[in-house]
Amino acid sequence: MHNLILVPSLFCPANCQYCFGPDKDTASMDINTIEYALDLALRLIEERNDSSRRIRIIFHGGEPLSAGISFFKQALPQIARRFQDSIVEFSLQSNLWLLTEGMCQLFAEYGVGLGVSLDGPEEITDVQRCKGYFQKTMNAINMARRHDIPTACLATFTRYSAKHMNKVYDFFVQEGLDFNFHQAVALLNKEKEDLWSLHPEEYGELLVNLFERYIEQPPGIKIDTLDSLCQSVAAGRGCICTFSDCLGDFFAIAPDGGIYPCQRFIAQEDSISGNGFCLGNVHDCLDIFDLKSHPFWQQLKQRQDVITDDDCSNCTYLSLCRGGCVYNTLSMGNKSPKDPYCPAYKRIYGHIIDRAMSEVFSEENLSLAVKEGGGLIKKGRLLELMRQ
Ligand code: SF4
Ligand code: SF4
Repeated sequence: MHNLILVPSLFCPANCQYCFGPDKDTASMDINTIEYALDLALRLIEERNDSSRRIRIIFHGGEPLSAGISFFKQALPQIARRFQDSIVEFSLQSNLWLLTEGMCQLFAEYGVGLGVSLDGPEEITDVQRCKGYFQKTMNAINMARRHDIPTACLATFTRYSAKHMNKVYDFFVQEGLDFNFHQAVALLNKEKEDLWSLHPEEYGELLVNLFERYIEQPPGIKIDTLDSLCQSVAAGRGCICTFSDCLGDFFAIAPDGGIYPCQRFIAQEDSISGNGFCLGNVHDCLDIFDLKSHPFWQQLKQRQDVITDDDCSNCTYLSLCRGGCVYNTLSMGNKSPKDPYCPAYKRIYGHIIDRAMSEVFSEENLSLAVKEGGGLIKKGRLLELMRQ
């Protein structure tokens, strides 16, 4: 699967406390830049000679809806036309404040799934994002629901909301909203003090506690982050970008056509690599060899190799984790190339594997195996999630 992340605007009308985005420019991506970005994506697919021809197009920000309905009226049909021989999956990550009825009709027509940035109930969301955020976003979620647009939330856990994990969990269950979650991302630019990111041990604790609630009693909603972890264990490889060799599977395009290995690096001050994070510009008609020759690409590639051959080579979970996210490594100033959240990843993967083994060898499964023969019968909530 190829992932093309289009960032139509870096502007965002919200003012979240822990935001790592630049929010410094109101310019939107123009029609030419979209065309050149699609040219690049098609060239990359050809060069990889991938017969599946599946592509995921993710609109991200800043706040992508800041580009206005005119951007999406141009971009969506243009993408559908250029990728008519491929299977295209559209999604958009947004706070939805700027959503309109017209946008809903367009998103429903093109099957654009919405990922909504929301951290839980009002008293939590408004403290760590900004005042009034919750109500604006919930109003828009209800508008999207009236149009039957698939909607799932993305909750950011911080040092504050992790203390209220059960309130966050109960809120999404009561609202019938599926959700993903991640920890607040540290800033590459250290001008602001980082008051929000969880320590790796705290994040490990949170992962295990959320997982236990999810496993003990099916909540009637999906928590994709946890499902993916279970499926990763079953597949023997990481099923989300954090746990894969992401380099080359993701390309993010900034409003001016700048090409980045991930949207997290867009418009960030580069005081770390010394090479700049931007690999080139779509207007220059680059191919994969041009991108691979950029010093930042080489730095990322070298990290990937060192992880496999050296830093993580003896880790039991290497195939499931692949050293974690390079953005975390850079933003948290880790001396080692592995993601500083390593202890959290070890904790949750170890926990899932132990839990799966205890389900396989549960009394119920053992007595059924004795009664009915035919080996162990694999019954259990976790084993079901792993099989999905
Ligand atoms: S840098 Fe991190 S967030 Fe970005 S694609 Fe890679 S793993 Fe995912
Ligand atoms: S869990 Fe830690 S040591 Fe193991 S692969 Fe991931 S980052 Fe490396």
